[in-house]
Order: sequence, then C-alpha cells, then structure tokens
Amino acid sequence: LPAGDLEWKKAPCRFCGVGCGVKVGIENGKAVAVKGDENSTVNKGLCCAKGYNAVIAMYGADRIKKPLVKKGDKYVEVSMKEALDLVASKMKETREQYGNDSLSIYGSGQWTIQDGYVASKLFKGCLSTNNVEANARLCMAGAVTGFLTSFGMDEPMGCYDDIDHADVFFLWGNNMAEMHPVLFSRLLDQKYKRKAVIIDFATRTTRTSVAADKSILFKPQTDLAVANAISYVILKNGWENKEFVSKYCTLSKGKTNIGYGLRDKFKFSDEPVPIDLDEYIEFLEDYTPEKVEKISGVSAKDIRYMASLYGDPNKKVTSFWCMGMNQHTRATWINNLVYNIHLLTGKISTPGNSPFSLTGQPSACGTVREVGTLTNRLPKGVVNNQKDREFAAKIWGVPASNIPPKPTYHTVEMFRALDRGDIKFMWIQVTNPMVSLPNVNRYTAGAKKEGRFVVVSDIYPTPTTDVADVILPSAMWVEREGMFGNSERRTQYFEQMVEPPGESMSDTWQLIEVARRLGFEKQFPYKKETHIEEIYNEYRQFHDNDKHNMAPLEVLKAEAGMQWPYVNGKPTKWRFNAKYDPACTKGEFDFYGRPDGKAVIWQRPYEGPAEVPTAEYPFWLNTGRVLEHWHTGSMTMRVPTLYRAMPHAYVELNPADANDKGINTGDMVRLSSKRGELVLPALINDRGLPPVGQVFVPFFDENMLVNKLTIDAYDPISAEPDYKKCAVQVEKV
Ligand code: SF4
Repeated sequence: LPAGDLEWKKAPCRFCGVGCGVKVGIENGKAVAVKGDENSTVNKGLCCAKGYNAVIAMYGADRIKKPLVKKGDKYVEVSMKEALDLVASKMKETREQYGNDSLSIYGSGQWTIQDGYVASKLFKGCLSTNNVEANARLCMAGAVTGFLTSFGMDEPMGCYDDIDHADVFFLWGNNMAEMHPVLFSRLLDQKYKRKAVIIDFATRTTRTSVAADKSILFKPQTDLAVANAISYVILKNGWENKEFVSKYCTLSKGKTNIGYGLRDKFKFSDEPVPIDLDEYIEFLEDYTPEKVEKISGVSAKDIRYMASLYGDPNKKVTSFWCMGMNQHTRATWINNLVYNIHLLTGKISTPGNSPFSLTGQPSACGTVREVGTLTNRLPKGVVNNQKDREFAAKIWGVPASNIPPKPTYHTVEMFRALDRGDIKFMWIQVTNPMVSLPNVNRYTAGAKKEGRFVVVSDIYPTPTTDVADVILPSAMWVEREGMFGNSERRTQYFEQMVEPPGESMSDTWQLIEVARRLGFEKQFPYKKETHIEEIYNEYRQFHDNDKHNMAPLEVLKAEAGMQWPYVNGKPTKWRFNAKYDPACTKGEFDFYGRPDGKAVIWQRPYEGPAEVPTAEYPFWLNTGRVLEHWHTGSMTMRVPTLYRAMPHAYVELNPADANDKGINTGDMVRLSSKRGELVLPALINDRGLPPVGQVFVPFFDENMLVNKLTIDAYDPISAEPDYKKCAVQVEKV
C-alpha cells in the first residue's frame, strides 16, 4: 500500500460474480489501492489477485479517452458531442429506412443495473425492438431456463451462508479454485474447520481437484446420464424424502424436444407434462450405475458413492456449478437434473442444502437477469405476456403497444442477423464479443460487412473496437456511480470516487444522451447529479409490494450490499421456505414461482453433444478462464503483475498425448477444428490435467484466440452455446 493517509470508500469488486466487498483507497483524485472490506459477509476482508489489482486496471497506457470515428481506414478523434450526434442520427436513419428490428444493442453482465435498465427502456420501450441481448446469454442463460422450468422463478434460493452449514460441497464441472477463488477459500475453511467434504466432479483435473477430498472425472456431456443415475440410486434405496416430494413437487416430462439451433421453433421455456412416479422410475431404468458407467466412464461404485452423499439424511449438501453445466447444448436439462436430486431428497431452501448456480460476471444477476436485458425478458416478466408489457410500459411512460410481443434474436442469432444484414446497427457496451463469441471468425467478418454500423463503448482497444464505426470512451467502475448484483441476489452500490479520463462517460449517460437526441426527453428526464438514484427508484417500482422487493438506496449506501427479496427491512436468505421467506403462503415450503406452488422434477434424457471427435479431429477441446485474468483479458492484461504471471494462452495436454506426439512444455502446437486453427505453446502437467484425448485452452488471450475453433451450437431452450466441447486436431509445429 502507498504511504500516507488514503481515503477509503466501499464498492463491490469490478470483476467476478462472487461480488466481494472491497475498499478503494483514494489519494489526490486517483484510485491507488484496494483492500477487502471486512464488513462484507461475502469475503470477510479477503480478495483474490484480480480484486487487489482492480485499480491498476483503470490506468493502462492505451486507455481510450476521446471518441473515435472511422473515416476510411483510419480512426479520427472527435468530440463526445459530435460522436453522440452521429450515433443518434445513424440510429434514426437506419430505423426509418429498415425498421425497428434493424437496430440492436448488445451489453453485458458487467453493465451496471442502471446501464441495463436504460438500454432496455430505450430499445424495447421507445424504439420498439426486442433486439436487446447481453453476453450473459453466453454464460448463464441455461441457469435461468433451469430455474424457470424447475421453479418458475429465476436465481438461487440459497445464499453464501449455505457454505457455513453444508457437510458436503458437490462441484459440478466447476473449477471454483480459479473461477470463484474467494468463495472457494470459504469452502476450504469449512473443510479444515468442520471436515466438510468437497467432491470435484469434472471433465479435467484442476487446482480445485487437488484441494478436493475426491476428484471424479466424467466424459464430456455425460453429466446428464450421471445425474439421472444418482436419482436412480436414491429412489432404488428409498433415500428420497417422500413427504417433501408428495407435498412440494410434481413429476413431469417436457413438451419441447427440439434439435440444436432451430431458430423458428425457439421457446426460451418448456411446458411440463405431468407423469407419475412409476413412469419416472421406468425412465430411470436406462440409467442404472452399470449402464451409466459405460457411457460416462464413471465407475458404478463412484456413482453409488455420490448418490449416498446426497441420500444420507444426516448430511447437508450444497451443489455448486457455473459454466461447466451452463455452456452445454443441454444446459437447461442438466440444471433441471441437479435440481431433481435436491428435490427428491428435500435438500433445498434450508441452511446448507442448496443447489447453487454461480455466475461469472459482477452483475449477470443484478443487471441481465433482474433488469432483464435479454430479448425475451422485461424488468419484471417476459415480453410474450401482455400484462407484463402493460406494466413495463406504464412505468416507462410509453404506450404498451410499443413493446413488441415476441422475442427476436438471442445472442448467437443476433450476430448471425448482423452477418446476414437483417440487423444494420449494433451498439456494443462493456463486452468484447470478437474475442468471446464461439466460432468468432464468422461473426467478426459479418460485423465488418458493408452496410453495417457498429458502435462500441469501451475503455481499451480490443478486437471488438477494431470492427467499430464509432468508439465511445467509457467511464470504468468507480469513475462513475452504479450498482452490481452478485450470485447470491446481493445488490451492491458504489459511488463515483474519481474523475474518468478525457471525455469518458458512463454507459448509462451515453444511452441517456442518445435517447434524448432521438426525441425521448420525456422518458429520460433524469438529472446528471441524481440520475443513478432516480433510475434505481424507477426500477424498484417493478418490484414494489411483490416477492422480489429491492432494498432502498440509503440501505445500499450504508451496507456492504443487501439481498432481495428485501421485506420489512430485512433480506431473505432462503427463499421458498416459510421459516425465512415471508412470501410463502402455502405451507412449510412454497415454490411460489409455479402456479401450484410445487417445484418440477423433470424427466430429462441423456443426449450426445453437437460435435464429437473423429479420425480427422480426434481430440476434445475444452475452454475456460484462468485465475489471473478477467474474461477476455482486456483489463487484466494491462495489469503488469497479472500479465507477468500469465502473459499468454497455452494448450494443456495430458502427458501421454504429449509423449505420443513428441510435445514438451513450451513447444508450439497447432490446434485445428472445422472452423479455424490456432498455434500456441504447450503446457504439460502444470496447472491442470486433461484426460487422454482432451486438451484445454483458456480464452483470455486476444492474440491466441481459441474461439476461432469453438462451435456455435447452443442449448435449444436457453440458447446458450457450448464452449466446453468440440473436436480438434493437435499437431506439433
Ligand atoms: Fe473480485 Fe471475484 Fe476475486 Fe472476489 S473473487 S476479489 S469478486 S475477482
């Protein structure tokens, strides 16, 4: 820490969905230090390497400080006023010529609540297009549809306090040690203090596996079969909680069973068709431990062991997952199947018993899921529902007929529409899709086509600003005021602490300026000094007197965040349990998101992945993050400590495969898939260990772009693509 007296101000961390509370040290108008906030119940004073370095990420040498407009092959600096005038006039002209749906906005789980709220209000309420999407579609859409189909309501029922009560932590394809490091340290604390057991169930061995009590590997995609086998063993042994199942659950199969990527049949939901217990048990006969051992590579003994942990009435079990289950061509189904296990055993909505879907980004929950910045969603409800449209329109001060009654494009389809030319204008804020989209070459080429106009708001040059016609400099994190919402339904406020550089402006205010230029002054009347508070109070009207109340701003300013539902001056820690949740009316448990108050146990089959290894492409490719870098690395690669610790991407190989091909650590390796190729150095037996026949590459490095190889097939219910499995060839260069 620098010497001298710093002024310390509280904020949520800028980076991941854990949502650690931090204190930012300010000296002479500059943010110079970060420490963990000891008042935060999330992290209790601890941060990870990214969090401690968050302020350094604000001061990279190539920070964009002035708007840039593309003229020929060059970018020319203009004033913010000129740039915003140009964006507004281009939107107006495009809309007049090609219609409402030729416009689109693509945001992020790093949008503040206010950014997402005004984006949705402008595009859905004022410009009459549902072309609003966010990168969270790529990381947690399957969790959303999982919650909606099983419980009729999004987001986890439990909270991080579950960690202090659980006897068993079951990690489903979740390298928590690197992806949610501070939360994982809380698991380790319980392991050493109370002998809590950690099971790492994954397709590769990682730092999480090393710390776990048991590491169990499964073949890609076969988690579907294993989850069914666990339910089979539970029922076969009579370990189910009969009373809980009969009182609070219904058994169902799905109506929607469509193939990958069928756009016209896209549903964002699934209708349950009731079945009885006998039909469900008969269905599970295909998933005996012995049969599933053959499909998954997990021994029947290990399947029985896992089932016995869930089935033991004396053990509290919390399951965690994140991208391993969500980036999956059957993301909704695998989410449903893990809920099935918790519902069958009644291990849900009580301290220590939680199926807990984690988010990657700081406000994937707060902004994307709660404000609803997805094509099918509204701040409350969905666009297909007339009452929800009328309610939103009333708060927004627009006619209800302004909001189109059907969703348009989910993320992958939105970029395909830009490629085709159905979308002519796209505004991208706080995200870097030309690194993060799967099969990215296709979408980069599409965005560069003649007749497309792309606006990018960001803080540093990226491959996405490379395709922009206008680049708007954004204010980052504590250079503006805002709010994030983390994985445990905690809304956190941060004030503006320092001035943004040059002409940089918050994404919220950029949108307001453009909305006013488009003639929507009445809908965007906010004052510069108070707009964050005004927008939050307007947004809270969506949840007043409802089961999703938000805490007042003065509470958020005083506390290190507050969980919703916030009722009678208190947060709700465990939803759907009458002991903790005042919204319950039907009994001890009330899954009030469903019309009958009962959660759904779904009959979901195992189904193979969209692409499998072949003679030409014989290896599985898996992708993900590393501890040192935040997402596409655009901020953390500019932090010298983090850059030095992890300067570039690598391909992780099993030593047996490396030996076969004569590859040593540091040798350059060519990976190729049907979609592209990539050359990068090998890393063997260092951080992670994929099984024979698999390789792993992190996606943070724009110079070694693994998404040139990944496949853009997606889950037909959530539209979340599968970044965890496609087929590649591996050759020494
Ligand atoms: Fe920030 Fe996540 Fe690290 Fe916490 S765990 S300090 S929220 S990056």
